[in-house]
Amino acid sequence: TDLSDIPSIALLPLPVANQIAAGEVIERPASVVKELLENSVDAGADHIDIEIEKGGVGLIRIRDNGCGIRATELELAVSRHATNKIRTLTDLEQLHSLGFRGEALASIASVSQFAMHSRFYSAEHGYSLLLNTFSQIPTIEPVPHPVGTTVEVRELFYNTPARRKFLRAEKTEFGHIQEVVKRLALSRFNVSFTLQHHAKTVLTLKKTTDEASRLLRIGQLCGTEFMQNALTVQYENQMIRLSGWISPPSYARGQADQQYFFVNGRVVRDKLVSHAIRAAYQDVLYSGRHPCYVLYLEIAPHEVDVNVHPTKHEVRFVQQGWIHHFLASSLQQTLGQTRPSNSVNIAD
Ligand code: ADP
Ligand code: MG
Repeated sequence: TDLSDIPSIALLPLPVANQIAAGEVIERPASVVKELLENSVDAGADHIDIEIEKGGVGLIRIRDNGCGIRATELELAVSRHATNKIRTLTDLEQLHSLGFRGEALASIASVSQFAMHSRFYSAEHGYSLLLNTFSQIPTIEPVPHPVGTTVEVRELFYNTPARRKFLRAEKTEFGHIQEVVKRLALSRFNVSFTLQHHAKTVLTLKKTTDEASRLLRIGQLCGTEFMQNALTVQYENQMIRLSGWISPPSYARGQADQQYFFVNGRVVRDKLVSHAIRAAYQDVLYSGRHPCYVLYLEIAPHEVDVNVHPTKHEVRFVQQGWIHHFLASSLQQTLGQTRPSNSVNIAD
């Protein structure tokens, strides 16, 4: 090759950089829904309406009654690396929000036709932000809007045909969205939700305040059979707290499709966790059968690293052995309730 042809180095134009970043986290419509729902929860919303068209490819509209965004910060909110959730890396050690990367809105906006309407809680009225699809230059105008935020995402991946080609049938994509809503609804009992597809209400979840109404939500989301059979888990000491519901051995399933584990309110898929749970069930389940569980682990934020992967589905525990032992022995003890002769003592 001719060395004189070597291109010079240039910074990528911002929209291109955003589209590349979007490739990491925005895999399909359900990823957009996940990011927007997390933002609503982080904004303190206790009611969220979700409207979907064409499996999320046509429209995703999420309206919340959270704190809203200052008009002067609307443009910043859709800029890359802009967040009000952390200021320094050490803030991650006491993180209480779901978001912190400041990338979701910029990523989503770069691969869709994007609009946001928001009214800050102390503002007189709302403002809308529209992004020009080519230049990504925003227009901001006053609009009527209740306190809170509405984000509208249309024609997802219209400018990234490769990604669009990988999308499945509308019904399948909507199924992924339902799963995302289910996970969030399982982790935020104090938030009410509605979910619509093609203007038809598919799910209405009321706020729950006591154990009985929580169980009703579990039944709505995981099936009444699980709800009626589930064993209640409740263990805590000064360091750690584990609560939730697990299936008794008699209610195991052929598939591992009803397994939810939350660490500090964040759903995670973790090898160590699944291994510990399998260990707890190993003597009571036939091989090839899978337990169902909805479990919540709460530990000090500095005991767990959430900054492992852009989608934040993975975490890393600082004290892995201790967590494994705590999970396995607590659950064994809960399962022991169905076999009184075989209970296990939990260390500390
Ligand atoms: P992150 O959630 O990691 O901070 P995002 O790109 O998802 O990054 O959002 C950028 C910022 O926009 C947030 O930090 C928050 O201040 C603001 N924001 C986004 N969505 C909402 C919402 N629904 N309500 C209030 N503020 C929001
Ligand atoms: Mg976010």
